Amino acid sequence: MEVAGWAAMNESGKVEPFILKRRENGVDDVTIKVQYCGMCHTDLHFMKNDWGITMYPVVPGHEVTGVVTEVGTNVSGFKVGDRVGVGCIVEACLDCDLCHRSEENYCDKLVLTYNGILSDGSVTYGGYSETLVVHSKFVARIPDSLPLDAAAPLLCAGITVFSPMKQHGMLQSGGSLGVVGLGGLGHIAVKFGKAFGLRVTVISTSPAKEKEARESLKADDFIVSTDQKQMQAKTRSLDYIIDTVPAKHSLGPLLDLLKVKGVLVLVAAPDQPIELPSFPLIFGRRTVSGSISGSMKVTQEMLDLCGEHNITCDIELVSTDGINEALARLARNDVRYRFVIDIGGDSN
Ligand code: NAP
Ligand code: ZN
Repeated sequence: MEVAGWAAMNESGKVEPFILKRRENGVDDVTIKVQYCGMCHTDLHFMKNDWGITMYPVVPGHEVTGVVTEVGTNVSGFKVGDRVGVGCIVEACLDCDLCHRSEENYCDKLVLTYNGILSDGSVTYGGYSETLVVHSKFVARIPDSLPLDAAAPLLCAGITVFSPMKQHGMLQSGGSLGVVGLGGLGHIAVKFGKAFGLRVTVISTSPAKEKEARESLKADDFIVSTDQKQMQAKTRSLDYIIDTVPAKHSLGPLLDLLKVKGVLVLVAAPDQPIELPSFPLIFGRRTVSGSISGSMKVTQEMLDLCGEHNITCDIELVSTDGINEALARLARNDVRYRFVIDIGGDSN
């Protein structure tokens, strides 16, 4: 079928209207009328070919919410009219040890929601489009209590921070968490941290974000990362750090903030290698870990938890005419804290 969407044709960082082809709904598939799609910094990395792997035209978008319009005959978990979401992944082998252990986000046959190549040879196009056709395994249910617009970024930003928080024991109260970079991923990490009873410190390059971080996001502390005095005053104060900074930086000053045996989880994906000096690592017996998105099982767990505790993202809704302006603002760190595209046009 032909579907209207928005694609980047080159490295300009802009999209333009684009008609794409999607497969017809197969027996295992769910077809979704896209209502909302969040704008992740990963969209910019791919559009600008930061990692040298972009296949133009690229239709970004992996924070999708919408309504089911068709289900295949093998699909039992969804019906027409259901409120659903799709995140970063749309295919895995479903047959390896990792897939059997519900860790399909580490399957080596993983296919990303856009700029991926499916097993049938076709290129994936993401949620900056009016319709998605996805294997039902990679579709999540959105709890009724969550609005589809403010829930959309949970499908990437939310699960990307929730998954390592669960892995490293941050769902229990009492620990202290540092969140580096108060953007899309960072702001939801702060919200999760507070919901789980952690002491949350924001580590930011933007002093202007302090008031809102403390008052609205309820952060307990705020450190300006470029201020060496402030950084030194907090040496060995944190159990965990989640690093979301999408640009080249050194982990050294961040590792110094961790207690002995503390854990830094890197979820950001800068185009340049980050610096990892050995002294803060070895003298503090610290760990640096990485994490990509999350499994569908943990994604559903996170969404249900957000539904129960009313956790949503702080968003700026933009119309499809405003995508390029929003992308430019995202590139210059001017968003509080996630742009979401109103693809369905409900608010227009
Ligand atoms: P974002 O909304 O742009 O936020 C990034 C934040 O980093 C900014 O708000 C800013 O916070 C801080 N920052 C510091 N230096 C910066 C610089 N030179 N340029 C831009 N921001 C800077 O980005 P996001 O959507 O949260 O994504 C963050 C990173 O995570 C990206 O690299 C993205 O590709 C990656 N990601 C990874 C996964 C995964 O599965 N591992 C999933 C999603 C995204 P302050 O103003 O507070 O300093
Ligand atoms: Zn993302």
